[in-house]
Amino acid sequence: VGIEIARVCGGVLVSYGVSYGQVAGTIRKHGTPAQVERWVPGLMSGEIIGAWGLTEPGAGSDAFGSMITTARPDGDGFVLKGQKTFITNAPYADVFVIYAKLVENGARNIQPFLVERGTPGLETSKPFRKMGTHSSPTGAVYLDDVRIPRANLLGGGVKERDHVKGRLSDERAGIPTLSLGLADRAFELALKYSKEREQFGQPICNFQLVQRRLARMYGLLCNMRNFTFADFLAGRKVPMSVADICAGKLYCGEAATEITMQAIHILGGNGYMEEYEVERLARDAKLMELGGGTTEIQELTIARNLIQ
Ligand SMILES: Cc1cc2nc3c(=O)[nH]c(=O)nc-3n(C[C@H](O)[C@H](O)[C@H](O)COP(=O)(O)OP(=O)(O)OC[C@H]3O[C@@H](n4cnc5c(N)ncnc54)[C@H](O)[C@@H]3O)c2cc1C
Repeated sequence: VGIEIARVCGGVLVSYGVSYGQVAGTIRKHGTPAQVERWVPGLMSGEIIGAWGLTEPGAGSDAFGSMITTARPDGDGFVLKGQKTFITNAPYADVFVIYAKLVENGARNIQPFLVERGTPGLETSKPFRKMGTHSSPTGAVYLDDVRIPRANLLGGGVKERDHVKGRLSDERAGIPTLSLGLADRAFELALKYSKEREQFGQPICNFQLVQRRLARMYGLLCNMRNFTFADFLAGRKVPMSVADICAGKLYCGEAATEITMQAIHILGGNGYMEEYEVERLARDAKLMELGGGTTEIQELTIARNLIQ
């Protein structure tokens, strides 16, 4: 289903994946029974929209080390202060999972907090204007002394980095699906066009230089399918390490950009025109190399896990 949605509109899957996958998934896995009951049914049915706030203006790849958003204990609750940016669904979300440094008893550790829209001090920006995934609203979250009850600390407090890294792994695992949908559609369009478009008195697919492009695109697509359907192809659940998950994200993100750009090339001038869809797929695909940790962060994480 995810691949089909991405073939038609990647942005829808980005927004849906964050609300249903990241936010509902985080609450389901780590929330208290009361938090799960309060939020998960609405998030799963789509009645409630969720946003997942980790990135800050000064804390992207170094999301943990450079985080400045804080949560300060105050009576029977916490007071959140800081700012998040590039947050999918932020402009319209009903509930936010906000990561903040909890300063308690002189110690600091990063914890997720549930913040509802309408809580005094919480503001969100308008949707940012951006290169692609236009159907997925991205924005900033401003937290100006936002007071929340202690019951909104996710799970009553979760183990620091391992928890956040687990969620990031889940996000990275979703990117091959999205990437495959975008690339599959671009390849389909390019192949069809190459059979229909005639130059020098024959379809351009007869030219070996065009065939080479198609063959290379197809090779990348096959590998993307292998990453995405590893379980299905093996006929069992394939255990995946963090390095495996990051390798899938790294490979499929880059392959989606490559295939969609090659599709533009095969369509020639038409490929550059909005009407022919492939340029939109290419703009959407670039996000696969940035969101959920950039290419470089995948490379560093893979290497760290291999040599440790
Ligand atoms: C459309 C969109 C939606 C998003 N949705 C969300 C969301 O819902 N929630 C959320 O929390 N975040 C979200 N993000 C943020 C995303 O995860 C970050 O943009 C990403 O992690 C990179 O951070 P940055 O943009 O600050 O880049 P930076 O960290 O500033 O990186 C800039 C460049 O430096 C490179 N770089 C950084 N550190 C190193 C290093 N150690 N070695 C080598 N190269 C390095 C990077 O690879 C990159 O090329 C979204 C981003 C976009 C564009």
